[in-house]
Amino acid sequence: MITQKPPPDIQATLTALQQTFATKIPKKVQEIRQSWEKLKSAPDDQAMFETFYRQVHTLAGTGATYGFEAISGFANMITLRLPKTEVITSLLVDEIEFFLEKLGNAISGESTAMTINMAPIQRQNMSFVSDNAADMLIYIVDDDVDLLSSISIQIQRFGYRIAAFSDLLSFDKALEREVPDVVIMDVIFDGDSKLGTAHIAHINAIRKHPLKTIFMSTSGDITTRLDAVRANGLAFFPKPIVAAAMVDAIETFTHQITEDIYRVIIVDDSPEQSASIALILQQAGMQTIEVNQPLKLLDVLASFQPDLVMMDLYMPDCNGMELSQIIRQMNSYVDLPIVFLSTESDLKKKLGVMGHGGDDFLTKPVLPWHLASAITNRIKRGRMISKLADTDGLTGLLNHIKIKDKVESELARAWRENTSLSIAMLDLDNFKHVNDNYGHPVGDKVLKSLTNFFKQNLRQYDVIGRYGGEEFLVVLPSTDLLTAKTIMDKLRTGFGKINHLRDEDDFTCNFSCGIASFPDFDSANTLIEAADKALYAAKNAGRNQVVINTPQINQ
Ligand code: GH3
Ligand code: MG
Ligand code: MG
Repeated sequence: MITQKPPPDIQATLTALQQTFATKIPKKVQEIRQSWEKLKSAPDDQAMFETFYRQVHTLAGTGATYGFEAISGFANMITLRLPKTEVITSLLVDEIEFFLEKLGNAISGESTAMTINMAPIQRQNMSFVSDNAADMLIYIVDDDVDLLSSISIQIQRFGYRIAAFSDLLSFDKALEREVPDVVIMDVIFDGDSKLGTAHIAHINAIRKHPLKTIFMSTSGDITTRLDAVRANGLAFFPKPIVAAAMVDAIETFTHQITEDIYRVIIVDDSPEQSASIALILQQAGMQTIEVNQPLKLLDVLASFQPDLVMMDLYMPDCNGMELSQIIRQMNSYVDLPIVFLSTESDLKKKLGVMGHGGDDFLTKPVLPWHLASAITNRIKRGRMISKLADTDGLTGLLNHIKIKDKVESELARAWRENTSLSIAMLDLDNFKHVNDNYGHPVGDKVLKSLTNFFKQNLRQYDVIGRYGGEEFLVVLPSTDLLTAKTIMDKLRTGFGKINHLRDEDDFTCNFSCGIASFPDFDSANTLIEAADKALYAAKNAGRNQVVINTPQINQ
């Protein structure tokens, strides 16, 4: 029932639309250029500013819709740089002209090449990027050999694969062999303050996808930063380098596209109706399930885990309002977005629908693009809200309640599949001293470093949550007690080697850890309690160690 591939006729229609759009791009870019010239000669002309903004903004949006990534991307870069209120400075003029030029270049490259494939869908479908530490390769390039080795060692400790180069030529050669996930590039080589950025710009000019580059430099002046932006740099770090901050940037830029595909259930008694809605949503990259017998909805809710349910209002057996009430009465779906789609145009009835647990009401016929964007926005918002509610603001990890839920669900799985399960409770040692000596913000950074370090070094199916202030809970599925101890000991020594702060006044931090396993303990509460007890034992035995809890110890 799960269908992802659009049938050929819709694809043909979209390809035709793409082609039509493609032919219009040069004219649109031309108009944008004209508006820009006018705006430059009359920078205070608010109306002109708005025209220019709207033209670029529209091109960014439509470009993305039709899969013209580069064009949409450069247009977006321009809108991002446009000030909302202040005047356009000469620096901004430089930047905008730079992207206008890129935009012009992109036309020739993209108008023909992109018309054949359905870029938006492909992009969404390959949304999963491995975040396994062993897979992530980072090239670091700096002609200051001492600095190169110290940064490399520090970043390596977070669990990335590192290759370090002290000259650009050996970097180029390595690039031919393997393209890294991230490049960390110094700016100044041989006294030339533009060589690093120019080198990356040069490489990117001939690549289909720019290298994900983070620049670092002893010079943090605006010209250098601008060079970095123009070379597609994702981040810029003035030296001295704080490795943890660099790792934060790496994490941010490599995890951006890992968002799961949006999942929508369409409930409609008419298979023709549900199929056409499904097609539109699939075109926008979503995964759909069609349910044509309303009462079957409950069968697929749990297994499909939708982001949103679309429902026809009038159906035999059970109408949309009744069905939404049933969903709302189930605890796990209290906040599941429900959108009604119906020809109903009577306002009173619409309001009644809202009162019965619906979130939104779309009136048929809905334009395909409108439908897709209304649903996308709903889901985006829904995901953002549940993420905010489920995760901890500082670290982005699952919060206390959610990590406990995770223990419950993994425990249920361990019962079911008759496998082992371990959990580890860990607490930073003498963390109060860190706050006292270096200040609370530095303490926060240590908590984030620990988070990044664990994310990078745990296996993909392991989960870590923030259990309390400086206390974390790790769930290790299919892992027995002794294996868990080996894993946690490795993480403990690894984390203990990370220098926090800069070279001059750096310090290290340890944690103590307690571990308990299923089936020794067979409920979430006893497991957590047992791990907590072992953690206490670790603290009492002098900290910076891992202690396991077995039922024998407890007796
Ligand atoms: P022990 O080795 O016994 O665990 O000693 P400790 O100093 O780590 O433990 P204690 O419980 O005495 O102090 C914990 C400290 O952690 C105090 C609290 O201010 C700090 N802390 C808790 N949450 C945060 C946070 O989010 N940010 C920062 N910077 N500090 C935090
Ligand atoms: Mg502590
Ligand atoms: Mg504590």
